Amino acid sequence: METIWILGDQLTLRHPAFERLTPRDAVVLMIESSAHARRVRYHKQKLVFLFSAMRHYAEELRGLGWQVDYRREQPSFEAGFAAHVQQYRPTRIWLMEPTEYGVADLLQQLAAAWQVTLHQLPTTLFVSDRQAFAAWARGKKTLVMEHFYRRMRRQTGLLIEPDGEPTGGTWNYDKDNRQVPPPHHPFPPLPRYAPDAITREVMDWVRRDFPDGYGHIEPFHWATTRADAEHFYRDFLDHRLDLFGPYEDAMVAGQSALYHSLASPYVNVGLLDPLEAARQAEKAYRAGKARLTSVEGVVRQFIGWREFIYQLYWLRMPDFATVNFFGDTRPLPHYYWDAKTHLRCLRETVTQLIETGHTHHIQRLMVLGNFALIAGVNPQEVNTWFWLAYLDAYEWVTLPNVLGMSLYADGGFLATKPYAASAAYINRMSDYCTGCAYDPKRRHGDGACPFNSLYWDFLDRHREKLFPNQRMRMMYAAWDTMRAAEREATLAWAQQILNRLEDL
Ligand SMILES: Cc1cc2nc3c(=O)[nH]c(=O)nc-3n(C[C@H](O)[C@H](O)[C@H](O)COP(=O)(O)OP(=O)(O)OC[C@H]3O[C@@H](n4cnc5c(N)ncnc54)[C@H](O)[C@@H]3O)c2cc1C
Ligand code: SF4
Repeated sequence: METIWILGDQLTLRHPAFERLTPRDAVVLMIESSAHARRVRYHKQKLVFLFSAMRHYAEELRGLGWQVDYRREQPSFEAGFAAHVQQYRPTRIWLMEPTEYGVADLLQQLAAAWQVTLHQLPTTLFVSDRQAFAAWARGKKTLVMEHFYRRMRRQTGLLIEPDGEPTGGTWNYDKDNRQVPPPHHPFPPLPRYAPDAITREVMDWVRRDFPDGYGHIEPFHWATTRADAEHFYRDFLDHRLDLFGPYEDAMVAGQSALYHSLASPYVNVGLLDPLEAARQAEKAYRAGKARLTSVEGVVRQFIGWREFIYQLYWLRMPDFATVNFFGDTRPLPHYYWDAKTHLRCLRETVTQLIETGHTHHIQRLMVLGNFALIAGVNPQEVNTWFWLAYLDAYEWVTLPNVLGMSLYADGGFLATKPYAASAAYINRMSDYCTGCAYDPKRRHGDGACPFNSLYWDFLDRHREKLFPNQRMRMMYAAWDTMRAAEREATLAWAQQILNRLEDL
């Protein structure tokens, strides 16, 4: 008998071992490891989502005729694996390449200790190829996502016309996608999935064994089966895709989804297929159900950004994990954990995160990441926090997004300039500043928005590193033409803000 070991973020039916083996030749092994779930204080809903999705997947496989050795609530992978080997004595173990660096080696050692051969197969959770990406990246000082994205469009044929040109004549419609919805805009509701018996059982376990996890465990509305995840994505295609583009960057208090897909938790564990998701979006455009600017945006996220981030992680590991270009050391303020702050944008975003385990991209980048960047918070601490707090977070996706895109801790390998912004950006793209205790228009003095002084202080203190970057010239020109007294007052106020960062 052989074993197919399936990890918690590999819940796909396109597992490569299913093409080589039949249910007569192999047993599927799945292990719930408490030690793994305790590596950091994961969001309670993330643990519920993952373990419930794993248990549902095991049922799905059983329905397809597979024998599944599902090891529940094990102290560790080692314990679950030892029990499996003793019971089944497999001759060989098949494993799909793990997404996380170093895991394959650890599992290889575990199998060797039990004198079983571990045979690794390429992942089917991503569309791009690791060797081809490494060859493309070789010798380049910075990698431009847009160039990679165009290659992926050509490779997949997505939004490509028979003459080889991009549909609509343009590759990227991002510039058309920066609108803000009018006040009282009626957003479509999100489908919600009541926890079934399996999910409720997992919730009891998480309440009992992981009481100090981040966030709230209830209400829990996430889909945990493939059928529900697919239903959820169809709802996006029918009700949110068309306006995805125009409102992609907007933030609205009390609105957790706007027109985003919220597909990331499902794609990242294999319940949805990224290429199929992009193809369905294209189909909606061809059927006249969604505008091109929105559909191109979604295609870019799935086969551009997501693939780029994954490949970059593998290209730059293990050194990527420790980058700290600005040498930042400040601890992450408590309000990233408890939302107790007068900074309304942060309060709204963290509250949403505590309640649901998810926020959209601009909240991550321009509120949470931006504030940590301009306040000089230690990048590794920020990264660990993102990894534990978000339902869709895994090491491969947080490291490049947090350290590279958001904090510029890699010195600009991923982003062409730091995503640092003052309150003006947040005020333009959201309704958070209305009703905030701080004034987005003031730089210093009581009541001035801390984003403003911290932003200018960030530029000033990193001048040596950032001024040579052409894309930063306009910002430095604005700073340099400000009156000297105004600059001094702004920097002095930034110091006061940094001294009482925990009290904002
Ligand atoms: C600081 C920071 C941390 C992030 N951490 C994560 C994370 O832990 N997990 C995660 O999946 N994404 C992460 N992202 C990327 C992005 O914010 C989320 O993928 C997106 O917000 C998920 O919501 P959605 O499914 O509604 O996305 P949509 O806006 O609907 O986009 C569609 C899909 O594209 C993919 N995608 C788009 N951008 C990215 C990206 N930059 N990296 C990877 N996939 C992308 C996702 O699978 C997403 O479901 C992070 C971004 C930043 C700036
Ligand atoms: S005023 Fe400043 S702190 Fe308040 S919501 Fe706007 S950007 Fe955030």
